[in-house]
Amino acid sequence: SLKGKTAVITGSNSGIGLGVARELARAGADVVLNSFTDREEDHQLAADLGKEFGVTARYIKADLSKGAEARALIEQAGKCDILVNNAGIQHVSPIDEFPVEKWDAIIAIMLTSAFHTTAVALPMMRKAGWGRVVNIASAHGLTASPYKSAYVSAKHGVVGLTKVTALETAKEDITANAICPGYVKTPLVEAQIPDTAKEYNMTEEEVIEKVILARQPSKDFATTEQIGGTAVFLCSDAAAQITGTTISVDGGWTAL
Ligand code: NAD
Repeated sequence: SLKGKTAVITGSNSGIGLGVARELARAGADVVLNSFTDREEDHQLAADLGKEFGVTARYIKADLSKGAEARALIEQAGKCDILVNNAGIQHVSPIDEFPVEKWDAIIAIMLTSAFHTTAVALPMMRKAGWGRVVNIASAHGLTASPYKSAYVSAKHGVVGLTKVTALETAKEDITANAICPGYVKTPLVEAQIPDTAKEYNMTEEEVIEKVILARQPSKDFATTEQIGGTAVFLCSDAAAQITGTTISVDGGWTAL
């Protein structure tokens, strides 16, 4: 059980982050939810989750495109036994047309923020004598696709940061690993469908079957519960010697 542990999950008011927060809470962890908004419904989401699983759940606003806010998120959490770097965005465009501000935002939110949160969380984990860093990378942290230069670069970077974090904590009861999902049906993926349809001149149904799941041999999306369950496993005693590596949850994508 993760009772007594505090988990901070970045970008967790929807999609995979929320799924991971739910499974960690189900396993007994207190959770800190986060996104860049500060709406009534964000705080309500945390309150409902806390009630459902009988844990302490808070929502802390932080815009992770800003380093100071990423650091403040962990400082405000006060305690961070489990750090899940999950926040992410996507933009699809050829390199020569790729908007510079989109490149900067993707690298800041998905890679640089993980550096900042890890930097503040590691001393807390050392003080507690136990810690787990779970970075949500992607099959795109191990392979590439055209038109996703910033995303693929950021995710490869996250895999690299995971390895360095693992080496710097190797002798302590702290592990760092990356989960590499293939396609999980979340708002982020759904938002890509219309753009990709235009790019390939296909209907949205064709895009799902022939483009999105083209490289996922299972021909099925992974679920947010499955990504959450993988995170819970990485926090378990069985995974204490698993560090500095990646776990693919991709229906066979990276076996191709
Ligand atoms: P999503 O859009 O549902 O969730 C993204 C989360 O990040 C949201 O909570 C959003 O509010 C938050 N976020 C975005 N910008 C932020 C910012 N500036 N500051 C703080 N929070 C911010 O998408 P998702 O599919 O759940 O993606 C979550 C992670 O999983 C991302 O890192 C994504 O790259 C990765 N991933 C997703 C898939 C997939 O198929 N959905 C596959 C592989 C990896």
